[in-house]
Amino acid sequence: MPNSETYTIDVIPGDGIGQEVVPAAISCLDEVASQGDFSIQWRHRAWGSEHYHATGRMMPEDGIEQLSSGQGILLGAVGDASIPDDVTLWGLLIPIRREFEQYANLRPNRTLPGVPSPVGDKDVDMVIVRENVEGEYSEVGGRFHRGKPDEFAVQDAVFTRAGIERVTRFASELASSRSGRLVSATKSNGIIHTMPFWDEVVQETVAQYDGVSLEKVLVDALAARLVLKPEGVDVIVASNLFGDILSDLAAAVTGSIGIAPSANLNPEGRHPSLFEPVHGSAPDIAGQGLANPVAAIWAGAMMLQHLGQQDAAARLERAFTEVLAGGTKTADLGGTASTESFTEAVLTSLRNDPS
Ligand code: ATP
Repeated sequence: MPNSETYTIDVIPGDGIGQEVVPAAISCLDEVASQGDFSIQWRHRAWGSEHYHATGRMMPEDGIEQLSSGQGILLGAVGDASIPDDVTLWGLLIPIRREFEQYANLRPNRTLPGVPSPVGDKDVDMVIVRENVEGEYSEVGGRFHRGKPDEFAVQDAVFTRAGIERVTRFASELASSRSGRLVSATKSNGIIHTMPFWDEVVQETVAQYDGVSLEKVLVDALAARLVLKPEGVDVIVASNLFGDILSDLAAAVTGSIGIAPSANLNPEGRHPSLFEPVHGSAPDIAGQGLANPVAAIWAGAMMLQHLGQQDAAARLERAFTEVLAGGTKTADLGGTASTESFTEAVLTSLRNDPS
């Protein structure tokens, strides 16, 4: 284990329950750091919707530059009813993903003890690797003849060989460290230019990995499989849009969006990576102490893993898993724990973990 290391991490709690789950994650990360003989220097960034109302921007003009000297970013959620969703997304998260080449969005989904699945007793343990910087989320296109009867909109998806190759390499390496099974989500029967290209490049890339088998599945059929038979699926590689949809579905299948974490990775480590819960700002429960902090804590564990602190990451995952198994749960999982009392229980479990 690396000793006495100090990591500089930027923290953007953002909006709604982001303000509640991020402090929960920070206290768990600080605890596990003190046990592991490393420390985290947090640089707090009050960016998000309030910042937008005050300045007209979700983050300062030199926000990317400010973040670039750190070793990682922990984000809560951004989103507020008073600002259009595309403004909040394209004003903060998407520039960060693109400027820092966070091309692999990793979304693990696992059934956890004490967390009932809406699709019955299934043993799910999968990781979705979503292409994170190109594809369907493109700026190419426009709205024409606005307000006229013949108004129309065009949006071009952008798929590059280099972009597909690098995310597939990442997914293949991940698959080879797990079961060796990789599923590629496609729609080449209907989307006749970009998706056959995706299929071709994915296939060529996976062929370079001995021991990794590739199954190409239409995304609609894959969605059904995630509900009906998720047990057999291990690693999925998917385009930006398909990966987004499949990972929310997979999160729901494993019990609650409140437990699903996500890592936006620059795998080569040239730029900081960003770690966040999959859920959003959840204004319906914000400020009431009801938010489930597991997704944020788990995202923190993914950050530790990326930083090379494998033991600390494993301790943290073990701690929240144990607390859930013991029946302490927030309201979204049918329990009565508050964000704070759940977090306290995780801290206690960490302190009692002898390993
Ligand atoms: P945004 O617009 O920022 O994406 P949203 O409210 O539309 O936010 P989510 O926050 O992703 O979407 O979640 C939808 C619902 O799921 C929330 O309204 C809330 O009831 C529930 N939920 C989400 N996250 C949590 C959590 N961590 N704990 C408990 N419930 C949650």
